[in-house]
Amino acid sequence: MTTNVCIIGGGVSGVGAWWCLSQPNQPGYEWNVTLLHNAASLGGHAWTVPVPFKGQTVNVDTGVQFYAPLLYRNIDAILARQEFSKVLTQPYDGLKVGCGFPRAAGAMQNWGNMPDYGATDTTKAPGSPFALYSPAMWADAVTFQDAVDASVLGGLSQTLDPYFAANAAKYQDLATFQNMFLASYLSIINGYGATLTDQVTFGDLLPLFGSLGSGSPWPGLARFTEPSQGFTRFVDGASSFVEAMAASAAQNKPGATVTYNADVTAVYPEDQAAVVEWTDGTGSHSQSFDKVIITTDMQATSSMLAAKGTAWSSLYEKYICPLATQLLPGYCMVHTDSSVLSPDLAEGEETVQFTAYYAGDDTQPGDYNLFLTYTTYLQGNIHSECDADGLYLTMYGYVPEGVPQPVRPSNPCNAGPITQYPSKIPAQDTVLFQEYWTHGMWLPQFMLAEKRAMHMAQGPGNINYQGQSPYPIYFAGNNLTADSLEHAFLSGAIIADYAFAAPLPVIDNIPAALMYELFKEEFMFPTGTSTGADTPDVSARQAEILLHALTSPT
Ligand SMILES: Cc1cc2nc3c(=O)[nH]c(=O)nc-3n(C[C@H](O)[C@H](O)[C@H](O)COP(=O)(O)OP(=O)(O)OC[C@H]3O[C@@H](n4cnc5c(N)ncnc54)[C@H](O)[C@@H]3O)c2cc1C
Repeated sequence: MTTNVCIIGGGVSGVGAWWCLSQPNQPGYEWNVTLLHNAASLGGHAWTVPVPFKGQTVNVDTGVQFYAPLLYRNIDAILARQEFSKVLTQPYDGLKVGCGFPRAAGAMQNWGNMPDYGATDTTKAPGSPFALYSPAMWADAVTFQDAVDASVLGGLSQTLDPYFAANAAKYQDLATFQNMFLASYLSIINGYGATLTDQVTFGDLLPLFGSLGSGSPWPGLARFTEPSQGFTRFVDGASSFVEAMAASAAQNKPGATVTYNADVTAVYPEDQAAVVEWTDGTGSHSQSFDKVIITTDMQATSSMLAAKGTAWSSLYEKYICPLATQLLPGYCMVHTDSSVLSPDLAEGEETVQFTAYYAGDDTQPGDYNLFLTYTTYLQGNIHSECDADGLYLTMYGYVPEGVPQPVRPSNPCNAGPITQYPSKIPAQDTVLFQEYWTHGMWLPQFMLAEKRAMHMAQGPGNINYQGQSPYPIYFAGNNLTADSLEHAFLSGAIIADYAFAAPLPVIDNIPAALMYELFKEEFMFPTGTSTGADTPDVSARQAEILLHALTSPT
């Protein structure tokens, strides 16, 4: 009986796969798990950094900031289980967005999506401190919000560009609305620095920004016209969730091996098994496993698979490189430099501040270069459990000038050198932590064709595809679903089912199960006649299922 599985990566997808395999009296339980993770603690992009500040420790989340229980039905169902009772969560209903832009003809150009900033004051006139909430801007925001809400009745697969082309007459100042208002929201959900109005559909927007009306089971989460509601934060940081999942798995089935600071350098098939090579504090290791699950981002994955053997060039390269090359770079800094805030928003009312102020460029729409904008989370407004006033997390959708060249494992997918761009960055002596990352996008539709094609690179499982990989190597991770805590967990759970017949532990929760089925059938293991080469528009189906899930009792 073969029973040894190696899981590479200790983020929520890797730990989630382990947790699924550990469920007592279920298929998968017989497998002995070895988890290799290249950091000192679990979490991955659910990474909480303990930052010493004002004589205390502030747990700053550098990846997962919030989750929405209404949307993240698996995470919500998992957290309801007794073994997760120590994971402290806190509703965060005051998620407020503020945006600052370069001045135009000396006038301030900024706004905040909250009553304090006049967001509901339809008489706001140009020249007032939050001048972009002019009557025209307000009217256009309402028009767009209404269109998003109405898409529940049809038009989910329509992308934004044709919608605006067909409905320009309904807007009082469409260009300003698009450049100054919509761009900031879309930039945040598109991985910073891009609007992608040619790709984003109403089906993408509906779950997050739409509503069935106040008082309904779905009042809306991140509305364009009011402060957000329905978000939750992890009081001790998002890592506490991943750590609780690992503790639960270890308790369910003692004996798993977890190796921290283990840098996996090579994975290759050999005979009927797969060999994993890694280095850690004790030296270099090589071990053969019956199955291997790789949950790292596709750039790291490509480095491991290309290091040895011929399977990379004969099989994996054509599936993995198209994903790896589309990942976006990012950089975050935890710091105390208030000068990165937009001066006109220095009151600090916001939770998250989109700053275009330092990206002035009069050749661009709105007089700023969207790509060079950045986003700052004001920790003082997030942490009610401690005094974090004056502590900031700033995120760039690129690598700004002046930070050290980030270390990135060499990858064979020709992603090219990392470009640094001139930008406003915190003074170095105020920086308490900084990190480089690559990531996908929150929108599941992003890289859909490439995600769907990956089923041919997956080893044998409970669905068969002609010509698929014969090797016992499997892939999970957010790059195969979408960039969120929920979607990353789903990817690991789907592999636990596909390769080990381990059922989803929260399968009794109908909305959670619907989400799981969606991502299994439409993303990771397409069924029926479409198996990846074609790219159906799944955003409409996804929105419909989400809507059903959002309005279903658990
Ligand atoms: C800046 C940012 C903000 C985000 N905000 C949110 C949010 O608010 N809400 C939300 O739901 N989601 C958010 N996300 C998305 C979410 O964090 C991720 O989708 C999710 O955490 C990814 O989990 P994963 O397990 O798939 O990958 P990862 O968390 O990346 O886990 C993979 C792990 O593999 C490890 N690894 C890499 N190479 C090796 C190697 N060679 N050997 C061993 N281990 C290796 C990595 O260190 C990493 O820990 C955000 C992401 C980012 C980057």
